[in-house]
Amino acid sequence: MRIRPRSLLALATAAVVATTLAAPAQAAPAPAPAPPAKATWWHEVDPRPSNEEVGRRLDQLADRSRGRVDVRTIGETNEGRPVWAARVGNGPLRIQYVSQQHGNEPLGAPAALEFLRTVGVGNTGWHRWLRSQLTVDVIVRANPDGHARDWRYNYDPDADPEYGERGKGYDINRYHNPDLAPEDNPATEAGHIQRAWLEFRPDIVVDYHMQGRYVDDDGREITASVYWPSADGVAPEAVDAAKQVSVVAQKSIDHLAGGYVSQYPGGTYEGIARNAYGLRGSASVLLELSAMGQEFEQKQIRSAYVAMLAIAQTAADGSVDRIDPARADDIPLRGDPIRN
Ligand SMILES: [Zn+2]
Repeated sequence: MRIRPRSLLALATAAVVATTLAAPAQAAPAPAPAPPAKATWWHEVDPRPSNEEVGRRLDQLADRSRGRVDVRTIGETNEGRPVWAARVGNGPLRIQYVSQQHGNEPLGAPAALEFLRTVGVGNTGWHRWLRSQLTVDVIVRANPDGHARDWRYNYDPDADPEYGERGKGYDINRYHNPDLAPEDNPATEAGHIQRAWLEFRPDIVVDYHMQGRYVDDDGREITASVYWPSADGVAPEAVDAAKQVSVVAQKSIDHLAGGYVSQYPGGTYEGIARNAYGLRGSASVLLELSAMGQEFEQKQIRSAYVAMLAIAQTAADGSVDRIDPARADDIPLRGDPIRN
């Protein structure tokens, strides 16, 4: 299946620029290279590859990219599964994508594999330019034990957690508190992610999750939701930078993936990755794909992929920095859940 074999990134950039840039042109920057149309084809992908399959796919990407996709693990789970990660590019601007902290929210991981393939394997002028501007670090599946069980938590039968479920495991996305040292982190995989952040110090972090189905106040279905840090103490510049990235995610999904993005009504707890890495100074964004059912899974994976590419493109060409952060406040609010 191919959806819209068009120049996705050129459109992404055009859409973002046309609809979000408030400032009039000053000194015109050198135009960024246009991505090849080939980069935009979509083909059906496995929405739930096993962790072994993720490892095989990453090995293939390392080969096919001639090492430009640099594969590693950031540690093991409590059951000894590798937590796979990969890095592409060698530019100064650093982006970190994290997928599937919650094991039963799978669709960010296949999008991350497609992102690595697109950016790492191709070698046109655009690819070389993008990789020269950015280094993108991708934690492909943060919670392989939870994936294996199709549940939210990690696997820790001894857990009696404040966040999580006794006898099952920890909610990884409540254990990123900046004052919690990785070596003291009771949620194993959260400690791995903390170390990966500390080693990489990304400018931008986007954490991919999934939510239920919702409508806006007019009854229109929301396909994804985004949010920026809301904890007390996040520097205003970090909030503004996260709002700029949120606008890119919204515009790219709305205009290029046929979606409809709302704000996510997230809480202020500092252990949530969105807040924790905002407190540490990153432009930290949460992206929640709605679980719309099997028939929409390819579209939802593609939505996450489109956002990954558009965030990378607009960071590389500098256009994300020219977005008015206040545009994020205009993103519609999430309304009521859809009762099936
Ligand atoms: Zn989640």
